[in-house]
Amino acid sequence: MEPGEHDSGSDVLKTAFITGISGQDGAYLSRHLLQLGYRVIGGDRVTSSGSLWRLKTLNILESVEVIHFDLGEFSNIYEVLEKYDIDEVYNLAAQSSVAASFEMPTLTADCNGMGALRILDVIRKISPETRFYQASSSEMFGNAAISPQNESTPFHPRSPYAVSKLMGHWSAVNYRESYKMFSCSGILFNHESPLRGDEYVTKKICRAVADIHHDRQEFLEVGNIQAKRDWGFAGDYVRAMHMMLQQKSADDFVIGTGKSRTVQAFIEACFQYVGSDLVWEGKGLSLTGRDKSGKCRVKINPKFFRPAEADNICADAAKARKILKWQPEYSFEDLIAMMMDYELER
Ligand code: NDP
Ligand code: GDP
Repeated sequence: MEPGEHDSGSDVLKTAFITGISGQDGAYLSRHLLQLGYRVIGGDRVTSSGSLWRLKTLNILESVEVIHFDLGEFSNIYEVLEKYDIDEVYNLAAQSSVAASFEMPTLTADCNGMGALRILDVIRKISPETRFYQASSSEMFGNAAISPQNESTPFHPRSPYAVSKLMGHWSAVNYRESYKMFSCSGILFNHESPLRGDEYVTKKICRAVADIHHDRQEFLEVGNIQAKRDWGFAGDYVRAMHMMLQQKSADDFVIGTGKSRTVQAFIEACFQYVGSDLVWEGKGLSLTGRDKSGKCRVKINPKFFRPAEADNICADAAKARKILKWQPEYSFEDLIAMMMDYELER
């Protein structure tokens, strides 16, 4: 068999362990796996149930088994794999904010790089048949010379987050090639939802536009709005994670919609959703977005700029479409509607 090639698995009920179950993807993946009949065990580093609001929102908190797990603690993953018969590990836990990674680069490296390696090495030692999914990121392409990016595009990370994710990615590849483990890396482009963390630009924009619409906020302040991202719906992307682990051979896949838009276009779409067409005036740091009455609704604040930026990332997901038969079900417009409706009703 080739490195990473395994039997495609049986039809018996499978058990999955999800690190980062309290996060956006952890919640949507849990729901997807439960619908498929999996037993879902989730790792949560926080002891109080306060961090599990996403599982509550999706109405699945009672259906998953949550245990204590921290990426920094070697013994945690050891105990999970010793105690349970785990078929699939989805490593979604991470210090996932690019912006925050500039403030805490070594913590980010330890969580995202060393954290993935710790899990892989324990799987190798005590449960080598367990399949492994690593949550890699389009940020690894960073300043890519080629657009759109696919599995062969050279990486050029532009943040401590992206560098740390490269360690996780290459560790997943290396354990597949060295030990024939079923280890996959999903290189996912930005995916959003109503359950997205507040620190991400899409959530920040939707929340602010809803608050402006309800007269609870005067304007939105953002950083680099010329940056382009390929945004999809998280629920579509967790299906791809599961598909990767059901293949005959382990491999790496780029997942994204293939359409990238500026942050500015995302802002415009949200204002349009509430019936307000923005007019842009000025340029650079003086750029402002005004509503019909002339009120300033969007301002640029240099504090939201990053020391280095991934300017234009856009997915070429042809391999996933061909091999996994994956494609997104939700459009950009669906995503805006879903996120805006959630914030307007909040
Ligand atoms: P979130 O930030 O919503 O979730 C991250 C999860 O990791 C949370 O459950 C968090 O727990 C947990 N976590 C953080 N630090 C640790 C630690 N030291 N030990 C254990 N758990 C920890 O991210 P998403 O769900 O959006 O993303 C899932 C994964 O996919 C991440 O690895 C992310 O980097 C990656 N990714 C995401 C993309 C996206 O657009 N969403 C794109 C590409 C990759 P807590 O609730 O306690 O903070
Ligand atoms: P990322 O692609 O994983 O970094 O996701 P983010 O949602 O954090 O950022 C997406 C893009 O929006 C990046 O290019 C940011 O520089 C840009 N951006 C512009 N203003 C803001 C802001 O106020 N907050 C965040 N998080 N990003 C911003």
